[in-house]
Amino acid sequence: MPSLLVDDIGELVTNVAGRGEGGPLGIRRRAAVLVEDGEVAWVGPAADAPPADRRIDAAGAAVLPGFVDSHAHLVFAGDRAAEFAARMTGEPYTGGGIRTTVGATRAASDGELRATVRRLRAEALRQGTTTIEIKSGYGLTVADEARSLRIAAEVTGETTFLGAHVVPAEYADRPDEYVSLVCGPMLAAARPYARWIDVFCERGAFDADHARAILTCGQAVGLDVRVHANQLGHGPGVRLGVELGAASVDHCTHLTDADVDALASTRFDCMCHEGGHTTTVATLLPGAEFSTRSPYPDARRLLDAGVTVALATDCNPGSSYTSSMPFCIALAVREMGMTPAEAVWAATAGGARALRRDDIGVLRPGARADLIILDAPSHLHLAYRPGVPLVRQVLHNGVPR
Ligand SMILES: [Zn+2]
Repeated sequence: MPSLLVDDIGELVTNVAGRGEGGPLGIRRRAAVLVEDGEVAWVGPAADAPPADRRIDAAGAAVLPGFVDSHAHLVFAGDRAAEFAARMTGEPYTGGGIRTTVGATRAASDGELRATVRRLRAEALRQGTTTIEIKSGYGLTVADEARSLRIAAEVTGETTFLGAHVVPAEYADRPDEYVSLVCGPMLAAARPYARWIDVFCERGAFDADHARAILTCGQAVGLDVRVHANQLGHGPGVRLGVELGAASVDHCTHLTDADVDALASTRFDCMCHEGGHTTTVATLLPGAEFSTRSPYPDARRLLDAGVTVALATDCNPGSSYTSSMPFCIALAVREMGMTPAEAVWAATAGGARALRRDDIGVLRPGARADLIILDAPSHLHLAYRPGVPLVRQVLHNGVPR
């Protein structure tokens, strides 16, 4: 593979703390990045750039690591535009609409599901998302969960078994039986295609006992844990995630002091980030609050407590039909008390932490050559110019897209 130099970068966000300015963003000015064999081979001043087979002139623009979207539900059929419209005229969001999508997904062919996954994956990539996590959870039968994950695994290695999204209608009065199905044959069928296991731990979905049983079964067969927690109200999800060593608890909209303390208690020191990280990341999904017209999570409270925060889209047809990480950054800054630098970090390195990855979300030698060139001189513009397509070019595994 020919080497490639991204040259004349006005502002390079490396996310390598202690290198350059900008705190955790590790900003370098007038920089260049050399890419070889899909990896970053060298980062330094443009004036010292080594020769390369090909060159991309960033012309003074900002370059960032590609976005890491650590929470998305892309395997589904149909849409719920009418439900969105009803909500905007005052109907509350309850999560019950998930069953609408389950019906449409079960009725869809493999080809239809695959086309939707690929369309949305391409849409996200155009907006700078170079890594995306994809969950099952709209099949809710053994066969439909397995095929959802098989199709997701065609486009990402970050696949999550979410058979415990809701109790499907046919099990509505027998939730214990559904949990047995999830822990038994459904998990066995999902396992070959999944890296993670997830549960929607919420009133109306799965309580703490059911969620613990399902997540523990997943751990027993080698899946790592993430949890949908505390989206619609206070509950046990966040503390359960911490108890089980989850990589991430996602949503975190309604938190008690005990929840925040539990997350902060997982903090450890590391070389890569001043102040360390928390083993369990709080992944905030402001697209969901936007689309359900709900109060946003308080990112400031989590950050001030020392909790590692990630931002993700929650892309799904019901409660957050956006694949745009820049949109989430803008919401986080405007509505959640994050600085632009914190939001950009959370959408890149934070997402990588939430997936327990250190080869993405960062631009240093040895990292994957996933980066984006903005039509802007600074990362600040992502929040400052909301809704504007600022991603000029994407390099994914070192390949220009
Ligand atoms: Zn979700």
